[in-house]
Amino acid sequence: MTDVTDVHPGTEALLAAVPALAPYARRATLLRPAAGTPSARDSHVGGPMLWPAEEEWPVCRGPHLTEVREKLSDADREALRRIDRDMRARRAGKPHSAYELTEEEAELHSRIMNGAGSLDMNTWELCRWVPVPADPGVPLVGVLQLRAQDVPAADLPEGPDVLQVLWCPREHPELPGRSAHWGPAVEVYRRSAASVAAVLEPPVPVDAPRRHLPRPCVLDPAGVTDLPDPEDLPAELAARADAWAQAHGTEYHRGLACHDGWKAGGWPSWHSTDPEPLDCSCGARTRLSLTLDSGRDPDLNLGSFGELRIFTCPEDPSHPLLLNLQ
Ligand SMILES: [Zn+2]
Ligand SMILES: [Zn+2]
Repeated sequence: MTDVTDVHPGTEALLAAVPALAPYARRATLLRPAAGTPSARDSHVGGPMLWPAEEEWPVCRGPHLTEVREKLSDADREALRRIDRDMRARRAGKPHSAYELTEEEAELHSRIMNGAGSLDMNTWELCRWVPVPADPGVPLVGVLQLRAQDVPAADLPEGPDVLQVLWCPREHPELPGRSAHWGPAVEVYRRSAASVAAVLEPPVPVDAPRRHLPRPCVLDPAGVTDLPDPEDLPAELAARADAWAQAHGTEYHRGLACHDGWKAGGWPSWHSTDPEPLDCSCGARTRLSLTLDSGRDPDLNLGSFGELRIFTCPEDPSHPLLLNLQ
C-alpha cells in the first residue's frame, strides 16, 4: 500500500490548519486500477472471481430495458419538419427569445411522439425503452474483488475477507430504494478466501452492453484521508475549508475532499444533485462503501461517464445496499 502522504498531502495539511474538520475525516483506499491480468485470488477489477466451483453463478431475471425503435410514417415526419420550420421562422431575427410551439403544434407533436422518450432525427425513428423479463436469466459479470489485506479494515463493512461486486450488465429501470439509478443491477457477496478450493469458470456474458463490461485490471491501492462534499458540511466550515484551499492553490472539492476514482470508503461527491440522505430501511443513515468510476482503464461508461456509488448500512451490513449514480 502506498503511503497516504504520497497521494493527497493537502488533505492532511488542511486538517492540521482547520481542526474543526477532524470529526468529518474518513479513511479511504484509492484502488487505482490499471489494465493487467489479475488472478482469481487477487484484488482486482473485472477478471476472474474467487467463486467456488460448487456454487451456482448468479443470474438476473430483470426486468431489463430494451430500446424499441419505430419508423415514423411519411405524413408524421413531414408534420414534424413543418412544425420545426414554422417555429424557426417565428423566432427569426429574435436571437434571445426561446423556441416556442403553438398549442396546436404542441398537441400534434405529442400525438406523434406517442409517449416515446426520444426521436432519432437521422433515421426518423421513435425510440422508447421497454421493460422485458429475462428468462432464463442473464449471468452477472464480475466487476470488483477486494481482499481485506489490500484495503484497511475501516474502509469495508465487517465480514469475511473477500468482498465481491457483481452486476447484471443490462440496463435496468430505476430499482426500488436505489436513488437516481438507471444502469447495471449490483450484487455484493462476501466469502472467506480459505473456503474456496476449486474456482468456477463463469458463463460468458451474452448480449451485454460493452460499456458495462470492465476490462480486467490490477489494483495499486493507496490509503488516503477523505473529507465530505462542501454540501455535507456546515456552511461556515465549508467556507473556511474553501478559503484554505484557495490560499494554497487548489480546490477543496476533488482537490482535498471527495477524492475521485475507484475507492473503498471515504465520502461521495454530490456534483450533479443535492446530497441525498440515503437512509436504510432500518432507519440508519447509510455510509459510502465503494465507488466505481467510468473511463480510464476498466473502460466503463456508467450513466453519462458517471460514478456508481454503493452505500451500506452501518448497523447491519446484511441490510440491502443502496446505489447512487451520478
Ligand atoms: Zn439484470
Ligand atoms: Zn439498516
